[in-house]
Amino acid sequence: MTVKKNDIHNITITDIGDHGEGIGKADGYTLFVKNTLPGEEVKTLVVKANKSYGYGKALEIIKPSPHRIVPPCSAAGRCGGCTLQHLEYQEQLKLKQNKVKQDLIRIGGFESACVPPVIGMDEPWHYRNKAQYPVSRSKSTIDIGFYSLGSHNITVCDNCLIGSRANKKILDAIKSFMERNNVSAYNEETGKGLVRHILIREGRFTGEIMVCLVVNSNSFKYKKELISSLDNIKNIRSIVINHNTLRSNVIMGDKCETIWGSDYITDSIGDLKFKISALSFFQVNPAQTYKLYSKALEFADLKGNETVIDAYCGIGSISLFLARQAKKVYGVEIIEAAVENAKENAKLNNIDNAEFYTGKAEDVVPLLYNEKGVTPNVMVVDPPRKGCDKSLLELMLRMEPQKIVYVSCDSATLSRDLKILCSNGNYNLDKVQPVDMFPMTYHVETVCLLTKQNINVLAD
Ligand code: SAH
Repeated sequence: MTVKKNDIHNITITDIGDHGEGIGKADGYTLFVKNTLPGEEVKTLVVKANKSYGYGKALEIIKPSPHRIVPPCSAAGRCGGCTLQHLEYQEQLKLKQNKVKQDLIRIGGFESACVPPVIGMDEPWHYRNKAQYPVSRSKSTIDIGFYSLGSHNITVCDNCLIGSRANKKILDAIKSFMERNNVSAYNEETGKGLVRHILIREGRFTGEIMVCLVVNSNSFKYKKELISSLDNIKNIRSIVINHNTLRSNVIMGDKCETIWGSDYITDSIGDLKFKISALSFFQVNPAQTYKLYSKALEFADLKGNETVIDAYCGIGSISLFLARQAKKVYGVEIIEAAVENAKENAKLNNIDNAEFYTGKAEDVVPLLYNEKGVTPNVMVVDPPRKGCDKSLLELMLRMEPQKIVYVSCDSATLSRDLKILCSNGNYNLDKVQPVDMFPMTYHVETVCLLTKQNINVLAD
C-alpha cells in the first residue's frame, strides 16, 4: 500500500527529528509529525508525501505520552521557536542526552560512550538575551511575532516565554508608535513597506537593553517619535536603526545608525566583559554558556604554560576564557567583524596573550603550524553545524596536541569527526558533557575531551 497525501493513518511515534518533530511509520513509510512525542499513538493526516518520506499533521493524540504537558505559551505548536514546550523539561533533557548517546554510537562507533545527564537550567524560561521579531501588517492590525515552523507566516507573539520579560513593553510601545505615525510594515511579497524586524538585545547580567529597528530604506524620518515612544522604558541604553533594502531573507543590513544612546550594550560571561553591538554575534544564553565554557576549561586542564589554538573562535569568548590560564591562545575565525570584536574584547578584559586571525580554520591553522611554528598543546574547536573541515582534522592528527576540546552544536557531525580523530588509536574520547543552551528546543550543545594516546610500543 502506498501512502498518499490526505490519507489518514494511526501511527506510533518512535523517534524525534532534528526540528523536534515526532517520527513514525505508516506501512513502512516515514512520516514527520509536528508536536508529537516518542511513544505516542497519533491519528495523522498526511499533508505532503515525497517519494520516501512525508509530513503529517496530528489530528488526535490517541495515546499521549505520560510526559506530555500543556505548553504554557499560547503560541506553542504554531510558532517555529519552541518545538518541545509540550514535553516536561526533565524529559527534554533526557531526550537530548539520548540523542547525543545514539549519535556517538551510530555515527561515531563509540559503543561504550558514557554520556552523563545534560546540564540543564533550574529555570528554563526567559533565558534568551536576543529576540528578532518580524513585523507585518494584516488588513487592520500590525502583526509582531515569530515565523511559523518552515514558513514566513507570522505567529503573533509579543510575550515570548523564552525571551526577556522586558520585550513586551518595548513591542507595545513600537506598535503604538507605528499606529500613531502611520508607519508601514514591510511586505515580503511586494518588497514595499518600512519596518521589517524589531531586534531587542538585553545584557543578562547588566540589564542594559538595545532596541534596533530594521527598516527597508536608507533613511528614517521618525527618529524623534520613536525615541520618545521608548522614553519611559527602563534600562534602554541604545536605540539603533539598521538599514536593509535587500529583498532577501537576511534579517540585518550592513548599515547601522545609532539614533539615541550608545552604539553597544555590555554583558558578561563569568568575569569576562563583552561589548555587544547590533550586528555582533553573542551567545544567546550566557548563563548556560558560562557552564559550557567552564566545562571546556575543566577539560583543557590548563597549568599556565600551554599554547592553545581556538579554531572557529567567533568573538573570541572561549579564547579569552582560556587565555587567563594558558601561556598563549591563537583564535581563528572566518568573519572579519567577529575577529575585530575578539580583539576589542581582549583589550576590554586586559588580556594580552591572545592573538586573533581572520580566515578559514582549515587555511589559517596550517599557516600557524607550518610557518609560525605554533604547536598547540591544547586544540579547541567549536565549528558550525556542518562540523570541522576534513583537512583540519587531518592536520590535528599531525600536530598531535595533547588534548582536543571539541565543542559542538550538532552531535551528528561531532560523532562523524570524533570517529576520524579516534581512529587507529590516535585519540581517546575521555569525556562527553552535553549542555542545554536552548531549553524548549531540540538543540543540544556538547563538549568533549579527547586525549592523545601515548602508545609506547616497547612497554608491555
Ligand atoms: N566559539 C565561538 C563561536 C562558535 S560558532 C563562541 O563560543 O562564541 C562557529 C563559528 O565558526 C562562527 O563564528 C562562524 O563564523 C565560524 N566559522 C564558520 N566556518 C568557519 C571556518 N571554515 N573557519 C573558521 N571559522 C568558521
